[in-house]
Order: sequence, then structure tokens, then C-alpha cells
Amino acid sequence: MFSKVQIGRRARRQFETLYKRIDAIAVTSHSASNGPDPYQPGGSVSTRQRRKIECLFREPSFESCDASVANALLEFLTYGNRQELARIRPLVLARRWQKKVHLVIDALVAATSCGILRLRWEIYCPVCKSASATRDSLCEVDEDHHCLVCRQDIRTDFSHAVELTFAPGEGCIRPDRQAYCRGGPAHARHVPLQMILPPDASRTIAIHLCEGNYQVRGVRLPICIDLHVDPELSSRRASFELKSEAISLSESSLSSGDVSLTFSNRHRHDVLVRLERVSADGRFDPDLLCAAQVATFDSFRNQFPKEIASLGHPIDIQSISFVVCEFVIDRSNVDRVSVERFGIEDYQRLQCELQRLRALFAKCGGTLMKSIGSEAVGVFMDESCAKKAAQQVIQQAGAGVGHRVTLATGPAILAAVEGRHEYFGETLARARSALGYQKVPGTVLEV
Ligand SMILES: [Zn+2]
Repeated sequence: MFSKVQIGRRARRQFETLYKRIDAIAVTSHSASNGPDPYQPGGSVSTRQRRKIECLFREPSFESCDASVANALLEFLTYGNRQELARIRPLVLARRWQKKVHLVIDALVAATSCGILRLRWEIYCPVCKSASATRDSLCEVDEDHHCLVCRQDIRTDFSHAVELTFAPGEGCIRPDRQAYCRGGPAHARHVPLQMILPPDASRTIAIHLCEGNYQVRGVRLPICIDLHVDPELSSRRASFELKSEAISLSESSLSSGDVSLTFSNRHRHDVLVRLERVSADGRFDPDLLCAAQVATFDSFRNQFPKEIASLGHPIDIQSISFVVCEFVIDRSNVDRVSVERFGIEDYQRLQCELQRLRALFAKCGGTLMKSIGSEAVGVFMDESCAKKAAQQVIQQAGAGVGHRVTLATGPAILAAVEGRHEYFGETLARARSALGYQKVPGTVLEV
């Protein structure tokens, strides 16, 4: 009798507290996954463990990290959702914190170097759209993989289907590693909207959309249609008419943030409509940071040089940017006798420039891949980062040194040759050969 009352009263109080907390978070956050965990307000670690993590965050490896990103990571590790902590995805954090991916990678790499986290590689299955297997090192990833969920053989494409994730190291954080329903919304975070529309019905949905590419699709719809969301745009409304032969829409591009979407079903049957965030090519999970992209992050290359590519497994990259710089010594103030000769002073000047370039590329989100003589090659995952770096090379040139700079974006092959990581292909060749046409130091030639 007493236990009945206790359980009844206590359970009611606990449920009331929980639902109030969920309500408060739902009102202040655009998505439950973007804020604190409503089910675990106290955090995922004990006070002692939190102190230990805070102490590790003061280690020298964090000194070069962006302070706001390091703080956000500390907050996430101590108060974050325990299920999410079991599988930390860098692009999800970058989007949530609205920070550049390379800054998030810098902080995650620093946390890995002091044992708070460890890195893993997940083999993504494009059929069942989930992580099919996990490996501790890229060397352990075979070329072919059999997915036990959908029972299909898949090719482990390093540029699309091998994802870098992080998990807590030993002893610091206890994540939730239980397997939950594969059909649950936690496994479909790239789907902000799904609904069933009855025949001839219309529905308007107010929704918050992040920047990116989306697709409207459905099981019984004849085609899927693209929607681009960009913070630079002003349009906040779009209408989709779902017809038997097509989907017509009023706007193919919208502003990010709060928007209004109207769906009208012109079929004679129910239609399941789904809005999915997709990658630029519309095929893969947009939050997947693949092995090929990771190779362009300076902090990752320095900390894990063996975790990039192996000789037997070259990576075919769909799009990457190269910035090629040639140093040009200004000899206008040099006497005529030493004009023709490249001396020790010139060499020292070039070494200073090389150091400056290395730091500049890393700061802009790329890495200095190599230098040959007076030529240096930088590689970037993001073209806008490459453009920014190319401009800064010129604007911040050292005294007495000019630069010829070219920039090219396109496909490339990444492979390990004699222990070094090299890029091959027409894109890099184009950027290097264009240096010959670049007669004007102080400008960037895009080819
Ligand atoms: Zn599968």
C-alpha cells in the first residue's frame, strides 16, 4: 500500500520535472540534439571526473586551439548526451557551434592526444545509411566490406564512406553504448521533417532549417526535388505540389533559419513526404567527415601521420583545392654583382616565408603539403578557405619576397609514396603549370 503511494507520487513528481525540463529546452532550442540532454541535466560525468577533464584541458596540446571551441567541447563532454558521446561526429559539432570544421578538429585532436578521446573509423553503408562497422586504424579498413544489416557487399570508398568519429578514452567519460531501435529518429538526424499527407490535403509547416542542401522525397513519389538553404537569401516560404508525374515547387532556394513550407498532395492516395539534408552531390550523409577530407587538416596530419592513406589504398577525392605559391625574391635593392646568385640570405628568407605559409595555411583550415625549391603547395578541403588563404599569402608577404599564386579546385588522388602523402591528378598539375602564365606577382590566378 505504502510503496504504491510512494511509487505513484514519486513517479508523478519525476515525470512532471522531466516534462517541464523538456518543455523548457524545446522552447529555447531549435532541436533537442542542439542543446543539453533533457534526460540527464546533471551531465554525463561525476564531479571528480569533471575536474580531471578540466585539468586535462589546461595541457599544452590545447594552447593552439580556438578558445571558444575548446570551451564548447569541454561543455559537451561534461554535460552532453551520453548516447551522442559514444559517437562524436566533427561535422555535427561544427554545425551546432557554427564554427569552422578545422577548429573543431584541432580541439578534438588535442583531446585525443591527452587521452580524453580516441579516434575511430566507421564504415558507412550507403544502402542502410548507417555505420556498418568500426575500426581503430585506417590500416584495418579493407577495400570491401559486408554489411550485416542489409546483407550487401559494399566497397569502402575512402572519399565517401569511411568516416572519422571520436569516442571517449578510457576512464574519463562513460558514454551510453546501448543499441537503440534503428528506425528511431536519433538515427535519422539528417531528416528534419517527415509526415503523411492524406489525398488532396495541404499542410503548412513552420520549421528551422540550417544552411545546406536538402531533398524532398517520398516512397510513392515519382522523383525527388532539391532545395538549397543559404543564409544570404531572403526568401522564407516555399510551396511543394506533389503531383502524380512530378513535384512542382515555388522556390528552389530559401534563407536559413525559421521558414515556412507548404505541401499539397494531388494524389488520390496518402503520401509520405520526407525532407532530408544531403551532401552537395545529393548522395551521402552530409555530416560524414570522410578519410579523404581529414588529410587536409594540419593538426590531424601532424598528430596522426599514419592515419591518412596507405600505398595499397589510394583515395579518390571528388573535389579538393590546391594553392600553389612561388616565392619571388625582390632584387631591386641588391647590387648587380650578386643579382644572379641564390645565396644563403635568399635561402633563409625563403625558409622564413615557408614557416609563415605553414602557419597561415593551418590557420585557414588547410595544410602545407610540400615545398620544392621556391614552390610550395597548400591543400584545402573547402574552396572558400583556399581562396582566403591565397589572398592572405599575398597580403601578408614578408619583406623582400613576392609571390606568384595559383588556385585550382577539382578531383585528385591521394596516396602514400615512400612514407609521404602525395596528391596526383590533373587539378594539381593545372595549378602548378599555371604558375608559368602568372606573370603578375601579388595576384591570385584561379584556373
Ligand atoms: Zn547496410
